[in-house]
Amino acid sequence: STASDEAHRTDRAADAGSERESTADHESETALETARRQLERAATHVDVDEAAIERLKHPAKVHEVTVPLQRDDGSVDVFTGYRAQHDSVRGPYKGGLRYHPGVTRDECVGLSMWMTWKCAVMDLPFGGAKGGIVVDPKSLSEDETERLTRRFTQELRHAIGPTKDIPAPDMGTDPETMAWIMDAYSMQEGETIPGVVTGKPPVIGGSYGREEAPGRSVAIVTRETCDYYDYPLSETTVAVQGFGSVGASAARLLSKWGATVVAVSDVNGGIYDPDGIDVASIPSHDEEPEAVTQYAAETDVTQIPNADLLELDVDVLVPAAVGNVITADNADAIGADIVIEGANGPTTFAADTILEERGVHVVPDILANAGGVTVSYFEWLQDINRRKWSLERVHDELESEMVRAWTELRDEVEARDVSWRDAAYVVALSRVADAHEARGLWP
Ligand code: GLU
Repeated sequence: STASDEAHRTDRAADAGSERESTADHESETALETARRQLERAATHVDVDEAAIERLKHPAKVHEVTVPLQRDDGSVDVFTGYRAQHDSVRGPYKGGLRYHPGVTRDECVGLSMWMTWKCAVMDLPFGGAKGGIVVDPKSLSEDETERLTRRFTQELRHAIGPTKDIPAPDMGTDPETMAWIMDAYSMQEGETIPGVVTGKPPVIGGSYGREEAPGRSVAIVTRETCDYYDYPLSETTVAVQGFGSVGASAARLLSKWGATVVAVSDVNGGIYDPDGIDVASIPSHDEEPEAVTQYAAETDVTQIPNADLLELDVDVLVPAAVGNVITADNADAIGADIVIEGANGPTTFAADTILEERGVHVVPDILANAGGVTVSYFEWLQDINRRKWSLERVHDELESEMVRAWTELRDEVEARDVSWRDAAYVVALSRVADAHEARGLWP
């Protein structure tokens, strides 16, 4: 097929993606809109310069690249890729790359803003970025994914680097993808530069514990929050939407720590058992895509649609799949008392307001899943120092960083009588705005 055909096809894929998002929410709130509204709201809680807020509503830069790919059959298809770099006042840009048909420029910008706040909430010396390719990774062979990744890296070569912008895995990418980026970048630079990406396999400078880290932080934050609101884990029921790397790790840890995980789901649907599901025995969606459904076939759990899982009468709900799943349409029906956001942007701005009015405690993504970028930071330190940490050290340092950040937010929740999301924004925005003020605007 010709390049222009393919460009057209890629366009259509992008459109289908936004259609998918808009059907998820009547207000068709994009990640960028949600991120901007959250920022405006946060600005009312902190005394920062209005010019700084205005500046933070926009990304510093958005790279858009065309990525031609030779398919296995010899034909050439053309894809579009992005890297949105939001803010770097506190350090190099940092954030994942997603391969998904729904990737858009605006989605990358919104997600890059959340990375700025996430790194600031955790007090990491990084700014925020996010990127991706408009592609369904399931439609590519492994060789095609490798060629696409290497060419994408080449197109972004001058924008990224260990002191400039450090990509990581996100939806549709994994440690192997990061290994190809590291190799392509290093080959062009003429030396091995492991610090250009994080989330690599440990054998080439990746950190132990990085893959499980976002799920582990979700579990730690759930444990702390349950303890704070007097829900002993041994008497707490949890529903987890999404059984990918975040959801599966979180579900397994919470169940190991004594909670009863009564429902899990993947893109094929959910399962529910009020007595608890043996989540340790179910491979994650990345390991075995049919595993959740297969577990249902082999046991007598009830199969439920993903939409119903969100409305179960449980203590804790962990949306850990895609964005925009809790919307103005279902916020009134959410049955949980506590929502811990494992995915990025699972709750729209309108839904957030409804949940707050209903007294549901929502602990935001920019704290809950921040274990991923925190262990990315550990990985980057290990790469620069050429010294590996043990898994035990990673676990210990992640535990103390998460508890410290959670405690800082709890103090804001109590002192200002605000939601957990507002508290997170107060902490993040103050740090970022203060850094801008200290550095000043030049020229
Ligand atoms: N993609 C992950 C996130 O959304 C990790 C980013 C990183 O490690 O840089 O937080």
